[in-house]
Amino acid sequence: VVGEPAGSSGSPGRPSESTDARPAPFVQADPTLPHLSVLDLGVTRGDGEFETVMVSQGAAPAIDAHLDRFAASARLLDLPEPDRAVWRAAFDAAVAAHPPVELLAVKLVLTRGIEGKDTPTGWIVAQPGRDFSRERVEGVRVVTLDRGYRHDVATTSPWLLQGAKTLSYAVNTAAIREAKRRGADDVIFTSSDGFVLEAPTASVLLREGDRFVTPSAELGILPGTTQRRAFALLEELGYETGAKRLRSSELGRADALWLVSSIRRAVPVVELDGVAKCVDRELTARLNEYLGEH
Ligand code: PLP
Repeated sequence: VVGEPAGSSGSPGRPSESTDARPAPFVQADPTLPHLSVLDLGVTRGDGEFETVMVSQGAAPAIDAHLDRFAASARLLDLPEPDRAVWRAAFDAAVAAHPPVELLAVKLVLTRGIEGKDTPTGWIVAQPGRDFSRERVEGVRVVTLDRGYRHDVATTSPWLLQGAKTLSYAVNTAAIREAKRRGADDVIFTSSDGFVLEAPTASVLLREGDRFVTPSAELGILPGTTQRRAFALLEELGYETGAKRLRSSELGRADALWLVSSIRRAVPVVELDGVAKCVDRELTARLNEYLGEH
């Protein structure tokens, strides 16, 4: 689904059907055909934002939280506020247009648009989601890596856009390659002054006895939609939950650790910086079952 300003014409693809007299302000397009200009600042500078939404058996339990975060990222990037109704309608159209599959990963993208023009580019792509079933059971080995920013970077230097889900994920993927060079699978970033942040594409969850905690969003990290849903289940099960500043030494002391995100759901950390961690297989399975449905 490719967005176009209402009333304009000439985009490739077939207009989406609408019961309304006005045409929908987006078109449904064939994702195998070219649509994006080589002059788009999303491509040439990674200047834009995105969201990846899980659609499981046709349902998108976190869509509202993703649309909230999409709007928050746009504010941080000084992009125009996304029109929620249009994006929601385009999201529904993208999901409806895809042949039914168990798990869809639906990506919403908004860029600063073509250089020199003042119009953002937006699109949505629905694709089958990556299968994380093995990782959910076997877990991942994680190394901590310094992100190089202090814990208060979001307040001292908001232009660094920490906490926005920008298209510039080159650093995130470089960190994962560094983890692989170190014989691990994934990363937990720490601040330069020693606080736990997040993984390159996931939030971090710790268990400390009967309390589950995640690093607070004020540390310039993404407020995770999956972490929030995981906490809803844990609270239902009678556990305490909360967000706080965590020293990296607390990772080693935690009873268990997970990386959580929309498509992955909850993946246990089996090794942290070369040291084995305990895994609660039953609770992990319960979390994953819940996250597929709620
Ligand atoms: N933190 C980062 C840097 C991410 O890229 C992601 C998701 O891709 C998350 C956290 C987890 O967010 P969510 O649970 O909403 O998918």
